[in-house]
Amino acid sequence: MTIAHNLGFPRIGAKRELKKALESFWKGDSTEEQLVATGRDLRSRHWALQRDAGLDAVPVGDFSFYDQVLDTSAMVGAIPERYGAPAGNVDFATYFAMARGSASAPAMEMTKWFDTNYHYIVPEFTPEMVFATRSSKVVAHTREAIDQGFTPKPVLIGPITYLWLGKERAHNGASFSRLSLLERLLPIYTGVLRELHDLGVHWVQIDEPALALDLPEAWLDVYHKAYEQLSAAGPRVLLATYFGPVDQHAQRLCDLPVGGLHLDLARGRAQLDHFLERMPKGKVLSLGVVDGRNVWRTDLRKALSVLQRAAQRVDELWVAPSCSLMHAPVDLALETKLDPELRSWLAFATQKLHEIATLKRGLERDGQGAIAKELELSDSVQRSRTESRRIHSKAVEQRIAGLTDADARRTGEFGTRQRVQREKLRLPPFPTTTIGSFPQTPAIREARARFKKGELDSAGYEHAMKAEIEHAIREQERLGLDVLVHGEAERNDMVEYFGEQLSGFAFTQHGWVQSYGSRYVKPPIIFGDVERPKPMTVPWIAYAQSLTERPMKGMLTGPVTILQWSFVRDDQPRERTALQIALAIRDEVADLERAGIRIIQIDEPAFREGLPLRRRDWPSYIEWATRVFRIASSSVADTTQVHTHMCYSEFNEVFDTLALLDADVITIESSRSGMELLDAFKRFKYPNEIGPGVYDIHSPRIPSEDEMRALLEKATSFLSRDQLWVNPDCGLKTRRWEEVLPALRNMVAAAQHMRRSETTRNRI
Ligand code: GLN
Ligand code: ZN
Repeated sequence: MTIAHNLGFPRIGAKRELKKALESFWKGDSTEEQLVATGRDLRSRHWALQRDAGLDAVPVGDFSFYDQVLDTSAMVGAIPERYGAPAGNVDFATYFAMARGSASAPAMEMTKWFDTNYHYIVPEFTPEMVFATRSSKVVAHTREAIDQGFTPKPVLIGPITYLWLGKERAHNGASFSRLSLLERLLPIYTGVLRELHDLGVHWVQIDEPALALDLPEAWLDVYHKAYEQLSAAGPRVLLATYFGPVDQHAQRLCDLPVGGLHLDLARGRAQLDHFLERMPKGKVLSLGVVDGRNVWRTDLRKALSVLQRAAQRVDELWVAPSCSLMHAPVDLALETKLDPELRSWLAFATQKLHEIATLKRGLERDGQGAIAKELELSDSVQRSRTESRRIHSKAVEQRIAGLTDADARRTGEFGTRQRVQREKLRLPPFPTTTIGSFPQTPAIREARARFKKGELDSAGYEHAMKAEIEHAIREQERLGLDVLVHGEAERNDMVEYFGEQLSGFAFTQHGWVQSYGSRYVKPPIIFGDVERPKPMTVPWIAYAQSLTERPMKGMLTGPVTILQWSFVRDDQPRERTALQIALAIRDEVADLERAGIRIIQIDEPAFREGLPLRRRDWPSYIEWATRVFRIASSSVADTTQVHTHMCYSEFNEVFDTLALLDADVITIESSRSGMELLDAFKRFKYPNEIGPGVYDIHSPRIPSEDEMRALLEKATSFLSRDQLWVNPDCGLKTRRWEEVLPALRNMVAAAQHMRRSETTRNRI
């Protein structure tokens, strides 16, 4: 028998109902009861949607008011002491304090969920930790689903993945391994499983995506015993892996005492055979053939043939998405403005449910016939995507074919470039600059909103933005900054701004995906070959340069970041799409240079997060990502200075690779970690110029001159003085001018101090 199921459904609501309910609750505009009711409505609606689409069981426990990892911390009672939580089940006040901080305790840390753009709340573990069941969410929701007549399949984050995702916090700084907590953690899990069993639950899904990482042997070794205990609790366990292939563990996983395994075939198609050869009798194999992380319609004929092959080898086959659908937008039906041809290629979470159910029907006796119409439609979608003129551009293809190694290389070596750039730019030692954006004030946002609604014409909008640019320039001149920026007033978002001007990109009206808590993002969809019909930034930057004698940086978003923060086409390798974007940026760079811009910055904040989950895949990513950056940046003369900027990650591990980009200057986030980044320079001598951020822009606090000077002093013990730039960690768009001005004043003073101590030194 074949089962159609789902690993998880987006909880946000097709119209962002959850966001609205949360934010109004946080503001005090609605009550806890109202929030709880919104949650209940969303769950019911989503379960009904899944059942009506033809799924045999619905996931339960995938709903969360903030984050599923935080919910797991609540379930096992991993509540840090600083929240002073009252005994018993975690209340809303504690729960949201953990997520967002409270007046008396800062929030728990947040970080990326594997290589997605979703952020989870990082569990904190101490050696003396005592676990206890402090949330009944999954049990209560299961009861709710049963009461409403659904067949529930509860979903839990596996205990080993849960521990892996957390951080160790020993009080006295003593070291301990959080893995040692497993023994104490398992009884909580078995307790919950027993309760679910008592409710009549037959199957639970336990997620162990950590298996797709490079897990240390000691961690792999505990799987068997742990799952022996969990399986003894009652319900049969479907162990779910996703986000990458796990065939390196095929034998181990097939031997696990669980009821079944789930594999991600969108990210690891080739792993299937390793499992088909080994699957023991009587076990379920769940195959994730529908991509849970992208927006394209599944090639049903291809997926069906994979499933049919598996069906001959295993006793029981389940059909599923590759991972939870929470990483896909909710419902394509709301997209009334998309071009109909493009729309016909897409499937969001709701549409993917139907694909799963269709594939299940296709596996039944005479299934081929029963789904003949769906298969034909799917074939025609595939055909139209291979042939559509909207997707394929001969010109782009030819340009890529004609690329040579020289296109990815600057003319002169860095030493030569540095010399000629210094002659031309005449900057002082410790040059000061900012990362690009200045505050996006309410006035700016209002002007943009009115422009979009048609209440402000384009001349009026341009006028308003030019006034903002001029204001930003005058403030920078007054501050005495050396390299200026135009402030990015005209940009809503650093990817959207470029995507909207490039061909091959589309934007949805409601294609939201949860990024964290109540923050959702609406990534662009890259559906076709990318071309730049006309310059994207030149008029703004040229205008800005015309207002000042000082060098104005041209500001661009890099190809890797644009790729990383979009839904990317699946009919060609990611690196080819990145290369196309790189060519568009390359043209923009050339046009900026032609317009007299002497410094051009290409931001790549997502460079680090693009790294694959497994180390063995790092070298090939680094190779193509570096190449596309260099193609974007290398057309310019030696005298033109190329900057890049990175943030949002720890770079120590990959620092050497950043040198491969060969940017003349890199500005990089580092102040939040007290310049921990500099440790990397002990191992590796960074060859070009660098501005390790001295000012944490994420906090409203204004850093003092002394504090920034101390960071600069620290930097000089690892880097030579004539390599160093002085700048904040990142752009200033989320700050207010009242915060920015004094902070930058102090920053410039710190740089001036460094210069003075330099001249004294030279004199001695
Ligand atoms: N230039 C961009 C800004 O200053 C960079 C943003 C980023 O790194 N995320 O806003
Ligand atoms: Zn940044």
